[in-house]
Amino acid sequence: MPEQRLAIIGGGPKAAAIAAKAACLRDLAELPLEVVIFERHEIGAAWSGNHGYTDGQQRLCTPAERDIGFPYDSQLADGLGSELQVRFSWMAYAIAKGSYGDWVDRGRPKPTHREFADYIAWCIEDAAPVRFGEVTALKHRFGRWSVSYSDLATGSPKRESGFDGIIVTGPGPQSTRLPQVADHRIFDGVGLWLPGIVVAAAQRAAESPDDPVVIIGSGGTAAATAAALVRAQVQNEIIVLGNQAALYARADSYFENRAFRDPKFWSALSAGDRRIFSDRLTRGAVWSNVVDLLAQVDTIDYLQGEAIRVRHDPVGDPAGVLMVDYRTSADPDGVIAQPASVVIDATGFDPWWFRSLLSKTLADQTLREPVMRSTMASDLSLPLTGAPRLHVPMVGQAVGPAYNSLMALGSLSDVILRPYVEAALT
Ligand SMILES: Cc1cc2nc3c(=O)[nH]c(=O)nc-3n(C[C@H](O)[C@H](O)[C@H](O)COP(=O)(O)OP(=O)(O)OC[C@H]3O[C@@H](n4cnc5c(N)ncnc54)[C@H](O)[C@@H]3O)c2cc1C
Repeated sequence: MPEQRLAIIGGGPKAAAIAAKAACLRDLAELPLEVVIFERHEIGAAWSGNHGYTDGQQRLCTPAERDIGFPYDSQLADGLGSELQVRFSWMAYAIAKGSYGDWVDRGRPKPTHREFADYIAWCIEDAAPVRFGEVTALKHRFGRWSVSYSDLATGSPKRESGFDGIIVTGPGPQSTRLPQVADHRIFDGVGLWLPGIVVAAAQRAAESPDDPVVIIGSGGTAAATAAALVRAQVQNEIIVLGNQAALYARADSYFENRAFRDPKFWSALSAGDRRIFSDRLTRGAVWSNVVDLLAQVDTIDYLQGEAIRVRHDPVGDPAGVLMVDYRTSADPDGVIAQPASVVIDATGFDPWWFRSLLSKTLADQTLREPVMRSTMASDLSLPLTGAPRLHVPMVGQAVGPAYNSLMALGSLSDVILRPYVEAALT
């Protein structure tokens, strides 16, 4: 059988899901599938609290049972679901760590992000080799990819070749939707979470107690940021400024949840209905337990408005007052200036960050983002001309609603591995 080699950029839950399933397929069905993971910091870096995105202490919004194999209904090989459950499930992990009984007795709490990072690392340790270093380029030749990276230990450039497919993971860096202004009172949804930075933001807010902290954004990061500032004892008013009418709450519901793992249901929806579903349940939606928490804090307010820029007043004076200019949906021509002690840009991340790793010819193709999204293949690879498969699940919502989250990592690994399993069997 021809060997199939895959490279995964990023050592997070998607890498764990794909590597674990490939390991089970190797052992159960003797399929020659090799997976190599490239990670710039540490496994679970976006969850540990050591590298931004979170302080590691927050809990997942999704339950532990939505682990890297959920929903364990793989069609790729007989007995695959059971093998995966026994070796790589959250339950297997808790048993291996001796904490299963305790976890059940405590009411099966959602893991903290730090605990989740430890679970991912445990899975990957048994599933795939990791090359530590920042990936700097993805090139292809004769139908195979090569990955260039800067070795974490030595800093020296390295290259590994011969990959049939590449999977890019991660939400990406902070998006730059707003013009960038350098100021020590401005933070973003990645950097705010680096060790010590929430406390620094709270101290800067205390220097201008009469001006509110303004958080720009209306999704999960904005809500988590508001909650973290309250925990850091910020006394200023906190304004969450979002372009939606409200912080929309998302609750657990069978009818919504099952759409994440039911491809038949999804394929029956029009493109418009898919977009409405995704907007309602993923983008710009905050889990109801977080919304309830924020609603109990009377210093937090939500304002509808689209931020246009953050600036100094007077303009260009870095010692001046911080201002957030925004417009409301009712008056799109008017500009309102909101003074702020501290500003946090929580407008989201850039899932197309990997463009800078590609050749100009391929990068230019990815600029047609709406076309890329709507014509993505069922295996979550981009419709790139002349290149081997490049899977980007974080932009795969037109194919399925679960692919940019933890909602059905077992389905995600199935759709990505399927073409390689078929190739290995021919
Ligand atoms: C704080 C936070 C909490 C979330 N909570 C939930 C939740 O509770 N439930 C849910 O369903 N979804 C949640 N999401 C959304 C979503 O699940 C994740 O963003 C996404 O699925 C993360 O998994 P991943 O494997 O794609 O990437 P990540 O876990 O983000 O891993 C990507 C990795 O890539 C590495 N990397 C980046 N660039 C390079 C490079 N050039 N070279 C090498 N490595 C690189 C990073 O260091 C990182 O470790 C959350 C997102 C965030 C940011």
